[in-house]
Amino acid sequence: MKTQVDPRKVEFEENKLVKKLCRLVGTAINDFNMIEDGDKVMVCVSGGKDSYAMLDILLKLRERAPIEFSLVAVNLDQKQPGFPEDILPNYLNQLQVPFHIEEQDTYSIVKRVIPDGKTTCGLCSRLRRGILYRVADELGATKIALGHHREDILETFLLNMFYGGQLKSMPPKLQSDDGRHIVIRPLAYVPEKYLEKYAVDQNFPIIPCNLCGSQPNLQRNAMKELLKQWGKTNPGRVESIFRALTHVVPSHLMDANLFNFKDLEIGTDTKINFGDLAIDEGLEDVCATDDEFKQIKMYSIP
Ligand code: SF4
Repeated sequence: MKTQVDPRKVEFEENKLVKKLCRLVGTAINDFNMIEDGDKVMVCVSGGKDSYAMLDILLKLRERAPIEFSLVAVNLDQKQPGFPEDILPNYLNQLQVPFHIEEQDTYSIVKRVIPDGKTTCGLCSRLRRGILYRVADELGATKIALGHHREDILETFLLNMFYGGQLKSMPPKLQSDDGRHIVIRPLAYVPEKYLEKYAVDQNFPIIPCNLCGSQPNLQRNAMKELLKQWGKTNPGRVESIFRALTHVVPSHLMDANLFNFKDLEIGTDTKINFGDLAIDEGLEDVCATDDEFKQIKMYSIP
């Protein structure tokens, strides 16, 4: 016997997901002051699930925001073979969102410059970023929104740590090198699995991202796999790593540019030396008695 799908249950689940996405995107926008009154936000839409979702959620949030801001969707047609030119204009027309399609044959440049078999993404991304900055100027956009999500941020963090010897990732808000543009990542708090589900629910007209024929980025894929494994075998670990990115304690790391270790001596008013206090915050909960808590606290570094 076939099991009937209850449409009310499906609708309820879909609404729950929309609410979650709106809450996470709204919180990220507030936390990092991504969008301000009067902003014109250029929403970069590639045809992938993430950027479709970003545009959709920003449209919803704009309706209920206490501030006024406008959105313009921008797609860069890089002239990859087989790129379906009609899909995005049709979709964006349906949404009645102002949009601009920028045609630039970066595909030929990348193919000419990068030897066969090598990853082309580095040069391709740099060219794309430069073009998007120019288009933002031409459209008078004050913010450029990119659709990177929580896992993109975590993968980049691990890649930089494992291969680059740096503690850095993709920031939720970034000033361009020349100081003339602000890039924002409204999906910074959103887990990728929510976006996968949302793309299915909304039936987004996805454009495949492998049209360029680039080799997959093996190191990034390995990080993605690692995060997936941890998600299955160590519940909470991925969330904890992500939280760690928002609770940095320079006095308990080793970067002398961030913390003045040289002048540190007894009685120094360090102000930002809150590393051990952060540990103490949860101490009371793990101590069996008040006395135990007081004793341990006595020996912990203030
Ligand atoms: S996958 Fe292709 S289009 Fe995407 S960044 Fe890499 S080279 Fe560019």
